[in-house]
Amino acid sequence: MRIVVLVKYVPDINADRRFEDCRVVRSPGEGTLNELDENALEAALRIVDSLDDDARAAAEVVALTLAPEQGDLALRKAYQMGVDRGVRVTDDALAGSDYAGTAAALAAAVRRLEADGPVDLVVTGMAALDGLGSVVPALVATELGRPALTFAKKVALADGVLEVVRETDEATETLTAPLPAVLSVADTANTPRMPNFKLIMAARTKTIEAWSLADVGLDAGLVGDAGARTATTHAAPRPAKPEVELVQDKGEGGKALAEFLLRHDLV
Ligand SMILES: Cc1cc2nc3c(=O)[nH]c(=O)nc-3n(C[C@H](O)[C@H](O)[C@H](O)COP(=O)(O)OP(=O)(O)OC[C@H]3O[C@@H](n4cnc5c(N)ncnc54)[C@H](O)[C@@H]3O)c2cc1C
Repeated sequence: MRIVVLVKYVPDINADRRFEDCRVVRSPGEGTLNELDENALEAALRIVDSLDDDARAAAEVVALTLAPEQGDLALRKAYQMGVDRGVRVTDDALAGSDYAGTAAALAAAVRRLEADGPVDLVVTGMAALDGLGSVVPALVATELGRPALTFAKKVALADGVLEVVRETDEATETLTAPLPAVLSVADTANTPRMPNFKLIMAARTKTIEAWSLADVGLDAGLVGDAGARTATTHAAPRPAKPEVELVQDKGEGGKALAEFLLRHDLV
């Protein structure tokens, strides 16, 4: 069983976000592993944990990111959780990639990994907290020609068939697909494990493979600004929220509340 987990290096959501030329400024040292990808890592590691001894010994979990060099931080965190291999795709030509370009490059890297043996499953988080597109998993599946089971709240694998439970506004769905497949897991799917001291120490010196677009055999014209099918035409930080106004009820609270609603055109 070989599983590739897509992990994204994202700006820390607690830090101030700035835009330049419609792009998020990604200052070195301010990024982190996309928190929702911890659920993806946990799902992959649990699948391996559930295998019998021989299958578990032969299994490999690869963490893959498309990011500048700082993206190694995301891969080190993946190593801390227990993955076997970390791969980063970095290339100047990737700057300005949209969803399609991102998915094309990630899929090309998965295909490159397949040079060493089949990849049974690609696991992702349900969204990257900087972009919040939630479309990369389906696009990667399309690129690879594999079924996509997305937003899974429960994941089970038996006899080469993946079964997930996902919830939409209208229904609870149970879906199955044969491997190889692409899976995105919801934040409610599991509780990510805490790395132990041994893995934290080992993660510091683990090898991270860095690949270029040429290494993954992808034409630079399909990614980055050159290949983007969408253009961000405007990006601005949200205006600060107005200060909270506390209405003290000294017998006239209802009146004060009504005045507040009228003053702000809320009724
Ligand atoms: C003009 C422009 C410039 C950009 N420049 C950069 C840049 O310099 N660096 C950058 O990282 N992004 C950049 N992006 C964003 C990049 O294209 C997004 O990563 C991509 O569009 C994915 O969308 P999302 O973040 O909404 O992913 P979602 O679809 O919300 O992600 C879902 C899941 O897919 C996986 N995933 C998504 N993206 C990646 C990734 N890059 N690596 C590994 N796994 C991933 C994760 O598991 C994630 O949880 C840029 C976008 C634009 C439009």
